[in-house]
Amino acid sequence: MSVSNWILLSLVNLLDDVKAVAKSHGVCQYRTNNLKDHTKYSFKCSQYRKYPLYGYELKASVPDDDPNSITVMFRDVHNHDDRSQSSRLPSPVRQSVSKYVGIGLTEAQIRAAVSVDHPSTPVSSTKLTSLVQTECRQNRPGIFSVYDFHKWCNDHQDGAVPHSTIVPF
Ligand SMILES: [Zn+2]
Repeated sequence: MSVSNWILLSLVNLLDDVKAVAKSHGVCQYRTNNLKDHTKYSFKCSQYRKYPLYGYELKASVPDDDPNSITVMFRDVHNHDDRSQSSRLPSPVRQSVSKYVGIGLTEAQIRAAVSVDHPSTPVSSTKLTSLVQTECRQNRPGIFSVYDFHKWCNDHQDGAVPHSTIVPF
């Protein structure tokens, strides 16, 4: 999955040093290979289960004939955004949605407005719907049902409801 080249990180004398380096770089050991003339210790991001795509990797090569000349190399970077990007809309979009919910636009209006504000950001309708619901709930904590939420958003779409307690912005 990764195409990055290995980059030399440091040369150490002891496997304990490798472990210290690994720890400070947020990786854990996952594989040991006994190769022809050296032993390879492979490490990957301690959170690789949460962030399975790409990610920081470390490896240490211990030469059989010189076990105190350990080469530590790394590649890639910690990439902890993949998961949050897949489950959350990007923050500029979230801000727009929050703003439009605040001024009482309906979900359809918000969808249209967001696509104008962020023409290059694909916004899935499922994510938008759930974000709008969340924002509506935060604006009006008493509302939990989808029906109420739609009704409330509709009621507030152009400030037509008298005695509204909602103060836009
Ligand atoms: Zn990581």
